[in-house]
Amino acid sequence: IELMYRGRAWVEIDVGAIAHNTRQLISLLEPTTELMSVVKADAYGHGAVTVAKAAIQAGATALGVATIPEGIELRKAGLTAPILVLGATNKPDQVESLLRWHLQPSLCTPKQALIFSETVGDRRVLPVHLAIDTGMSRLGVRWDEAKEFIQLVQGQPNLEIVGIYSHCATADDPDPSMMQEQHRRFERMLDTCGLREHNCKIHFANSAAAMSDASLHYDMVRAGLATYGLYPSPHLKARIDLRPALQIKARITQVKELPAGTGVSYGHRFVAAQDMKIGVIGIGYADGVPRSLSNRVTFSIKGQPVSQIGAITMDQMMLDVTHLPDLQEGEIVTVLGTDGDQVMTADDWAETLGTISWEILCGFKNRLPRVTK
Ligand code: PLP
Repeated sequence: IELMYRGRAWVEIDVGAIAHNTRQLISLLEPTTELMSVVKADAYGHGAVTVAKAAIQAGATALGVATIPEGIELRKAGLTAPILVLGATNKPDQVESLLRWHLQPSLCTPKQALIFSETVGDRRVLPVHLAIDTGMSRLGVRWDEAKEFIQLVQGQPNLEIVGIYSHCATADDPDPSMMQEQHRRFERMLDTCGLREHNCKIHFANSAAAMSDASLHYDMVRAGLATYGLYPSPHLKARIDLRPALQIKARITQVKELPAGTGVSYGHRFVAAQDMKIGVIGIGYADGVPRSLSNRVTFSIKGQPVSQIGAITMDQMMLDVTHLPDLQEGEIVTVLGTDGDQVMTADDWAETLGTISWEILCGFKNRLPRVTK
């Protein structure tokens, strides 16, 4: 790939890793439990269609997206698995799109149920998943108000309840107590609503919950992050073998000598302490490398660590390559990924920046071409 691809910078997606991670997740589940691959936000920056196809081929049976356009993209690419829209949909024209593209909405409020039912009319049926808030305090009806809500939905013959789910707020926390409390609330809600006997899929777990407790698996788990090969938390590392599927590569576009005392990039936040050699690469914060990593991140060239220096700019940044005398323009830099002994993960960046790997991955969405292998 590297020889063929001549761009300034690109994302490399290892489809085999997506398949491997999917199979690893499935290995945690009972044969009757399904895996929904969560491919929202363009599959966390990996490319929704590519990931969805690989995950389904590896055994996932459903897909999760955040918005209707994300679902339509998958349908247009020929994916036929059930698709759940996890985000809010509450307008009549959205109901038409859901029906037309066979997308299943999350039903979150009584008002939304009535709008849906009125728009669907008597000659059609819309399959829905009920979203129950057991402690995330995001979308969904509160667990202790779910009974009336469910009765209301059951009273609409054109809305078919095909799923009921909740979402964990703290599943990646090594202390399981809040997740267990959410689980208890979910259980109580299921008991009082009589939906266990109903032919609908019960689902609760994200990647972290799926990896930490089999009693949270129910009929289906919804895994995003683990599909992409990252662990939601270090304490879950022993559970399954995950391989990061995304790498970022860039080419050296210019090499130059700098005399001691020369400032580098906007604001001269780096000044050469002695004579040095720098390399420029054509990737910047507009491509998804956070500017706040400036002067704080290491990349790799031919297995050798190279420090990024000076402010990361919109489209370019500079590297200290003083220790690489033979470096040529056109050489490939591994910005994120594995290069020999150098392993640079989204977790490393997240730790430096005080954020989470999910946010780092979702940043690679705009400009970089994606190459799959
Ligand atoms: N379910 C819902 C409702 C979500 O919002 C998400 C993602 O945030 C997931 C499942 C997947 O979570 P994760 O990426 O932690 O597996």
